[in-house]
Amino acid sequence: MVDTLIVGGGTAGSVLAARLSADSRRTIRVLEAGPLWTTPDGIPAELLDIAALPIGPQAQWLWRYAVSLADDPPVHAGIVRGKVIGGSATVNGGYFVRATRMDFAAWSRLLGGSEIWSFDSVLPMYCRIERDLDFGDAPWHGARGPIPVRRTVDPSPVGAAFTAACRAAGYADVPDLNEPEAGDGVGAVPCASEDGRRMGPALGYLLPALDRPNLTVVGETYVTRIRFDGLRAIGVDCLREGRTHTEWADRVVLSAGAIESAALLLRSGIGDPGHLRALGIPVVQAAGVGVGFSDHPEIGIDYRADLPARPAIALERVLEVGAVEIRPYTMSFTPGCHTLGAALMRPRSTGSLRLRSADPVVAPLIDYRYLVEDQDRTRLSDAVSIAGELLGRMGAEPVDPIPERGDRGRWLHTHLATSQHLSGTCRMGHDNDPAAVVDERCRVRGVTGLSIVDLSVVPIPLSRGPQATAMMIAEMAADRFLAR
Ligand SMILES: Cc1cc2nc3c(=O)[nH]c(=O)nc-3n(C[C@H](O)[C@H](O)[C@H](O)COP(=O)(O)OP(=O)(O)OC[C@H]3O[C@@H](n4cnc5c(N)ncnc54)[C@H](O)[C@@H]3O)c2cc1C
Repeated sequence: MVDTLIVGGGTAGSVLAARLSADSRRTIRVLEAGPLWTTPDGIPAELLDIAALPIGPQAQWLWRYAVSLADDPPVHAGIVRGKVIGGSATVNGGYFVRATRMDFAAWSRLLGGSEIWSFDSVLPMYCRIERDLDFGDAPWHGARGPIPVRRTVDPSPVGAAFTAACRAAGYADVPDLNEPEAGDGVGAVPCASEDGRRMGPALGYLLPALDRPNLTVVGETYVTRIRFDGLRAIGVDCLREGRTHTEWADRVVLSAGAIESAALLLRSGIGDPGHLRALGIPVVQAAGVGVGFSDHPEIGIDYRADLPARPAIALERVLEVGAVEIRPYTMSFTPGCHTLGAALMRPRSTGSLRLRSADPVVAPLIDYRYLVEDQDRTRLSDAVSIAGELLGRMGAEPVDPIPERGDRGRWLHTHLATSQHLSGTCRMGHDNDPAAVVDERCRVRGVTGLSIVDLSVVPIPLSRGPQATAMMIAEMAADRFLAR
């Protein structure tokens, strides 16, 4: 039996396992559903190349989910997550921007003014992750962390044309998007990469720790259920090589990501009692699991322009305007076209995740409910107007012309996509908050021996992409909550 069993060796799980196992008095075991490579040389080249997203139809290292993005008219989509050591950070774009001061003010308000998750409290945790190769000497940065972070100096034609268009439209330059007081404007995207390699938490944290005798990491092991003794978590059931095993631990930490951590809690009897009983799952504890998650809706505008493509990180530059992020992708998602993304970063509409079945091999039902709030429709339409103006300044032609504002309703639905940044399925809150699944120390309320350390716990929409924040949450948990 180990001290700490971590379910999922993904973005947060890799950080957590590496940090906790630095104390040789502890024993840490990680169970990861996807493949594990124990040396960097063993990792397939596709997963290392930061100039490509390894999420094509043949990719074997993905969870794939069919989801509903919106109703009336219905919009269906497929989303993915990394099912591999390092998790989604092993297959993502490497954009490495922190959440904002405003985000943590909102997060702290939800905790009744607690300072645990204030910006000043989390800043040292963001810093310890990174080796910022551009601004490492700045007091708000780290220069010695495991993850190298770099910004593209010489952008590709798409990045250069976009920057020029933003400047011509009057937007300010933001030299460092991770500067705590950075305001609106266009800036170079900090990217977790070095020498063309994607540098996620598997390479940066977990693999270098694998020779520790107190750390074991097992791949191809799918955790199906948490075992309880009364209200105490004592282990998990898992599937490995077609057989069911049970593993025991003093405490269990879920780092399976916002979709699978929530699904695992539900399958284990923590959730809405009516929903669980309808599926024949014995109720352990009532909780608002899967309710009110958040993600960034995005309108993808395909366009043609005389801008030759060249291998580059997916996003070299972004424009931040209020709660909107404009993304000039360097890679083509539609043959013969470029794509400009217009994303809403603080949407009001929230989604829900439920089980279709108690059977662990059946994927959950994920209903985004994007655009149900009028304000989101208005703001997303504003975002499209900004994007349209920039395309005009870039000399680019949208493939499907952008309608006038008043006629944009249906067009928004047909161009609706998601940023794949789902968070907040098991959200954090204070003791009197009935919707809170975990407390401010990431412990699942109502039971003992069970914590969640991944994006599931985030109680607010994050104004930036979530990878850096997933790792920060793990640094916080390792340093403040799970150290003993
Ligand atoms: C294609 C794509 C591109 C993205 N690009 C960016 C980007 O450029 N920048 C950015 O900020 N964000 C990006 N994101 C989002 C970001 O990568 C993720 O939100 C973040 O990495 C999630 O971290 P996590 O620790 O919560 O979960 P994950 O990293 O997904 O880790 C969960 C881990 O748990 C494992 N697991 C799940 N269930 C079980 C189980 N039952 N038993 C055992 N193991 C299990 C999984 O296999 C996985 O390894 C992207 C996401 C995707 C999918």
